[in-house]
Amino acid sequence: MASTTDVVEAIKLPRHSSIQDYSRYRVVPAKHPWRFVGSVLAAFIIAVTFHSILTNPNWGWDVFAQFFFSEPVLVGLGRTILLTVLASAIGFLLGGTLAFARVSKSPLLSGLSWAYIWFLRSIPLIVLLLVLNNLGYLYATVDVGIPYTGILFAQFNTVEILSPFAVALIGLSLNQAAFSAEIIRGGILSVDHGQHEAAAALGLSRRRQALNIVLPQAMRAILPSGFNEIIGLAKATSMVYVLALPELFYTVQVIYRRNLEVIPLLMVATVWYLIIMSVLSLIQIGIERHFAKGALRNAPEPLLRTILAFTRGGTEASTPKPAPAVGRPASAVKKPMAVPGARSNNVGHIDIHGVSKRFGTLTVLDNVNLSIRPGEVTAILGPSGAGKSTLLRTINHLERADEGFIAIDGELIGYERDGHVLYELKEAAIRRRRSAVGMVFQNFNLFPHLTALENIIEAPVSVQKIPRAEAIDLARDLLARVGLSEKEDAYPRHLSGGQQQRVAIARALALKPRVLLFDEPTSALDPELVGEVLDVIKELATSGTTMVIVTHEVGFAREVADSVVFMENGRVVEVGPPSQLFNAPAHSRTAEFLAKVL
Ligand code: ADP
Ligand code: MG
Repeated sequence: MASTTDVVEAIKLPRHSSIQDYSRYRVVPAKHPWRFVGSVLAAFIIAVTFHSILTNPNWGWDVFAQFFFSEPVLVGLGRTILLTVLASAIGFLLGGTLAFARVSKSPLLSGLSWAYIWFLRSIPLIVLLLVLNNLGYLYATVDVGIPYTGILFAQFNTVEILSPFAVALIGLSLNQAAFSAEIIRGGILSVDHGQHEAAAALGLSRRRQALNIVLPQAMRAILPSGFNEIIGLAKATSMVYVLALPELFYTVQVIYRRNLEVIPLLMVATVWYLIIMSVLSLIQIGIERHFAKGALRNAPEPLLRTILAFTRGGTEASTPKPAPAVGRPASAVKKPMAVPGARSNNVGHIDIHGVSKRFGTLTVLDNVNLSIRPGEVTAILGPSGAGKSTLLRTINHLERADEGFIAIDGELIGYERDGHVLYELKEAAIRRRRSAVGMVFQNFNLFPHLTALENIIEAPVSVQKIPRAEAIDLARDLLARVGLSEKEDAYPRHLSGGQQQRVAIARALALKPRVLLFDEPTSALDPELVGEVLDVIKELATSGTTMVIVTHEVGFAREVADSVVFMENGRVVEVGPPSQLFNAPAHSRTAEFLAKVL
């Protein structure tokens, strides 16, 4: 422990030495007198409890010791653990499937899943176990074959194959699946919608979206109640005594009926259950920490290191590390901002032809026509609700146009053309095409559980099947270009808004898109961070990638845009070069709007 004089020295020191060198500082935790009083009280209560339990002979600890490691108890314990592990695994697998079925767009799948959950949650476990145990009365044989054809591959006697263990496992798993399904569904629903959208915009496959983006984030919501369920299940295994299956509890009952030492034998079961639950709780802490990466401002230390630090009595685990050097601001980047493998100037032609879009009775886009030449930078201006975001989202096919077409380099978004026939594309095909269009969102929508580098390589690796090492090289190159080389291992929450948006731009660039869409990329940023993002976009504008930017930064649009579009009420009111649109707008509505924002 540090003495008081040490601490005073530590505080005095910096006055005489360099203030910048933070690594010399040692952090002394604050003192908490009330916490100390509470700890003493807790220690007292624990001591009294143990004293009473250990000194009262009626607990029969000698009998306890005799049976704790006895063979039948250990065999029963083994069965309990096996049942818990198998039923949790099967229950969560089936539950996961049910949860995804429940949130699926197919009403039949969703309905079936709902019915299963409703039914199995309604039946008491003990009833379910007894019904399964008596299944032989309902169906004498179990047939494997093709229904209604008379084709039979195998036939089993129900009573023979449904051993008590099988009944217990099936009953517990079916019951567990219904509850886990709802827990997993809760987790899926807890993931922010922007995350689904960002994953879809990158063209990730549905499987990849579910397994790599949604589930890892959902796990944070799933784990606490999930482990509650597993612990509940470990205890519920005691219910299978109704099947006369000698698991831990049944074994203990058999013994105390013979020797009448009820309390000591119940204690044998209790202590074993305590041990099982403690191990489960430790596993839970470990897994929760794993999935917490990126979710907390201060990442937790690995469990093992925390325990070691605790046993050493050291505080080193909590000593803050000196702040690393901050990444260079984008404005200091000297390299030209060419996109790696940049495309020549004749790709990225966007043709928007007669596009309309309605939400219910609201017409959000009304016969929009625009032609954007390859390599051109277009700024879209307009009041809130004008339909600017919807237009960008239709270009990316995150939203389907009700009328009209959008083509990129002659390839129609959402359709395969064969002569004059347009085949509407399926989701998977649309996702593959989407990698030609990069999108940067107002709220960044970085995947919070992945580092900056992992955010960038996700789509190149999983959509474009680029070897991981190559994708990492590309990502490092891109990070350097947005001035964030030092931040490749940082999680989004550890980055400033401006840095997050620069990572998001790098993520969009990693797919080498022909077209880049920006939806108010600086609107969520503090004013002093706007510049660093605009600088990155400015540099990109010279690279020959076609860009469409929805923005309220008029000065920026004037400087960077080749053409400016003014939208209102779902219509394009006016299009022109910035010099004309800003200095001499042709339309009175444009002039009114500019008067407000300039
Ligand atoms: P902007 O980006 O120009 O502010 P948006 O394109 O986001 O405007 O929205 C245009 C209009 O469409 C708004 O009135 C908005 O409320 C409406 N809208 C956008 N998305 C939906 C939706 N999914 N369902 C219903 N209305 C929507
Ligand atoms: Mg918008």
